Amino acid sequence: MRAFPCRPQRSPSVDTRTIDGQAIAQEFRERLMRRVGALAVNGVRPGLAVVQVGSHPASKIYVRNKIRACSEVGLHSEHIELPDSADEPALLDRIRNLNIDKRIHGILVQLPLPAGFSVDRVQETIAPEKDVDGFHPINIGLLAIGRPRFVPCTPLGVMKLLEHEEINPEGLHAVVVGRSNIVGKPMALLLLQKGATVTICNSKTPNLGEMTRQADILVVAAGKPGLVTAGMVKSGAVVIDVGINRLPDGKLAGDVDFQSVWGIASRITPVPGGVGPMTIAMLIQNTIHAAERVAEHASRR
Ligand code: NAD
Repeated sequence: MRAFPCRPQRSPSVDTRTIDGQAIAQEFRERLMRRVGALAVNGVRPGLAVVQVGSHPASKIYVRNKIRACSEVGLHSEHIELPDSADEPALLDRIRNLNIDKRIHGILVQLPLPAGFSVDRVQETIAPEKDVDGFHPINIGLLAIGRPRFVPCTPLGVMKLLEHEEINPEGLHAVVVGRSNIVGKPMALLLLQKGATVTICNSKTPNLGEMTRQADILVVAAGKPGLVTAGMVKSGAVVIDVGINRLPDGKLAGDVDFQSVWGIASRITPVPGGVGPMTIAMLIQNTIHAAERVAEHASRR
């Protein structure tokens, strides 16, 4: 039995259900293994390169988890570590080499980068067809016009969680808290494509609660622990907590006050164990998708 954040003692008015991202990601991984097996028949093994600059402690853990997930599913993976002293031209050179490396189908540069690096320049140097993070302007553009190729992993993972829970966004009001390029904006685009009416909030939104209380689906990605509390959630809403915040005592917390929202929301994702595991599963899926595109292209020649 996995430990989710403690549930409150009071009797709930709504029968809240926790969305178990860990279990759903595991189901996904099993399906992905079958796709890896099908590629192996044609002599293709999907490969992911994860590039890390410097020794950011949290990045080390994230990269280790991604590499481990790759090997569990049977992918080839490379962890490329550049020292703290590396400069941007060295990173861009490394990316250009990976762009032409046939064993590598997906390239990911772990964020944050050290001060002085241009994240835009780095992301634009990754070949769009190997951009498994979905951050390249071409991939974001394709998503915006409804022809998605590589979709950012976290919002894609949220959509898969909703699908798994048989929640169809069509006709529902979705409120996304956060407008970052990697979570909030692509999240809103994906919900919009599924027919939701979407409101996007940011740190300048006056009276956030007035907005969030209108949500049938509430996705919170602000990076502010406990930002969303009971009074900000409509009874029966589906609450997806993307936030991962390290508290002073070392524990992880989401952006939603899980305990107070329990008994108000119909479903809620825990932190940890909600969106996080799906993000990694989607990274693997995008890498397999990149390899399948290469294999398909080769078979047509
Ligand atoms: P970010 O800092 O780039 O963006 C945060 C957004 O939230 C901004 O648009 C900001 O305007 C908005 N915001 C901040 N405070 C707000 C407030 N009080 N009211 C309304 N909006 C507010 O962060 P990000 O990269 O989008 O990540 C957001 C959170 O999601 C972080 O906790 C991050 O660690 C987490 N995250 C989790 C995963 C995962 O796999 N679960 C993946 C990526 C990010």
